[in-house]
Amino acid sequence: MADFQQQTVTILGATGSIGTSTLDVIRRHPDRFRVHALTAHRQVEALAQLCRQFSPVYAVIADERSASELEQLLRGTGTKVLVGEEGLCQVAEDSFVDTVMAAIVGAAGLAPTLAAIREGKRVLLANKEALVMSGQLFMDAVSAHGATLLPIDSEHNAIFQCLPPERVRTPEQAGVARILLTASGGPFRETPLENLHKVTPEQACAHPNWSMGRKISVDSATMMNKGLELIEACWLFNTEPERIQVHVHPESIIHSMVEYCDGSVLAQLGSPDMRTPIAHALSWPERIDAGVEPLDLFELASFNFQRPDPERFPCLRLAAEAFAAGGTFPAVLNAANEIAVQAFLEGRLAFTGIPWLIEQVLSDMNPVPADSMEAILEQDGEARSRAGELLKVAPTTAAMSSFPENSGVKLS
Ligand code: NAD
Ligand code: MG
Repeated sequence: MADFQQQTVTILGATGSIGTSTLDVIRRHPDRFRVHALTAHRQVEALAQLCRQFSPVYAVIADERSASELEQLLRGTGTKVLVGEEGLCQVAEDSFVDTVMAAIVGAAGLAPTLAAIREGKRVLLANKEALVMSGQLFMDAVSAHGATLLPIDSEHNAIFQCLPPERVRTPEQAGVARILLTASGGPFRETPLENLHKVTPEQACAHPNWSMGRKISVDSATMMNKGLELIEACWLFNTEPERIQVHVHPESIIHSMVEYCDGSVLAQLGSPDMRTPIAHALSWPERIDAGVEPLDLFELASFNFQRPDPERFPCLRLAAEAFAAGGTFPAVLNAANEIAVQAFLEGRLAFTGIPWLIEQVLSDMNPVPADSMEAILEQDGEARSRAGELLKVAPTTAAMSSFPENSGVKLS
C-alpha cells in the first residue's frame, strides 16, 4: 500500500499558465492526485480537452452560453458542467476536495479562494490579487478555519522553504533579520526611459525568463508584480515591509532569500519553471518529481543584483504607499491596476499611463477600514469606475509621443 493518501484536487483557472503547469505535475503522479474539478473563464475548447484527459467530476465556466457549448463537447464523458461564481465556490468548498489550486487571475479569484479557506482546505495560492485585496480578513479566515495555505508564487515559495519548518509566530522569533525578495526586472529593465511610453503589449508580454499569463507579464514589466508580492509577503509571513528588501536579479535563478540575525542567508535556487513551487506545494512536506530541468551551475555565467530604479518602476512605490495607507487601499491599488493593465493590453493606455492611472485613483480616494468583504468589494468597484472615468482622458501611446514632456514616467 502507498505510504501517502491520494489528494483530490480542484484547479481554479485550469486553462491558464499556472493551471497548465499544475496539470503537468499531476499527470506525472496519478497515484497521488485525482482531479475533482477544472475551471476556466471562457476557453470552452481548451477546458473540454482537459476534461477529456483528466475526467473531473465537474467543469466550471463563466456564463450560460459557454456552459451549453461545453455540455455539448462533454456529452457522454460524465463530467458535469457548472456556471459562474456559484459554480467556482461549489467546487472549491466541496467536501470531497482536499486541495484547491487558486490560479484564477485577478479579483475574480477572491470568492472561490475564500470559499476553500472557509472549508479548511489545503489552498495553493497563486492568485496573489485575492490576498492583496483582503489581507487581514483572508489571513484571519485561514487561522479561524484551520486551512493550510501554501504559496505558489516562486518568491514566496522560496521564502517558505527558507523559513524554519515549525511555524513560529513572528519572523523576529525565528531570528529573521530580512527577507530578500528577488525580481527579474522584466523586459524593460534597460530600455531608455524616454522610450517606455511606446512599448507594445507584445513587448511587455515577452518576459525574458518566465512564460506567464498576459496580466502578470505586464505586472512584471511595470514591477507592480513585485509591489503586489511585497504586500503578499507581509501577510503570508506576518512581517512588516521594512524587513523586506527587493533585489533585482535578472537571471531569475535565486527565487528569494531569508537573512537571519547570525548573518546566515538562506536562498532557494532553481530553473525558472513554476512546476517546482507547484510540485513543492502539492506534495509538501514531501518532495515529488516536477519534470523540471536540473540546474547546471557550471553553465550559469554569474548572478547579478541591483536595487530597483524608482523612476523606472513607480508601481513599486505605489504598492508600498497603498499598503502603508492600509484599510481598503491595497484593494483600490489592485483594482486600478487591473483596469490599467487591461486598457494597456487593448491599446487604450500607454505603458507609462499604468502608474499614472493608479496614482490618480489612489489620490482621488481615501482608505476605509477593510473590516468586511462588503467594504472591500465596494471600494474595489469604486476604484474600477474611477479608473474607467480617468481612461477617457488618459494618455494613449500616440498622445504621449506628441507631448515630449510626458514621454517618461513623470511622477512625484
Ligand atoms: P492566465 O491568464 O494564464 O490564466 C488565468 C486563468 O484564470 C485561466 O484559466 C482563465 O480562464 C481563468 N480566469 C480568468 N479570468 C477569470 C474570471 N473572470 N473568472 C473565472 N476564471 C477566470 O494567468 P496565470 O499566469 O496562470 O496566473 C494566474 C494567477 O497566478 C495570477 O494571479 C498570477 O499573478 C499568479 N501567478 C502566476 C505565475 C505564472 O508564472 N504564470 C507566477 C506567479 C503567480
Ligand atoms: Mg512571483
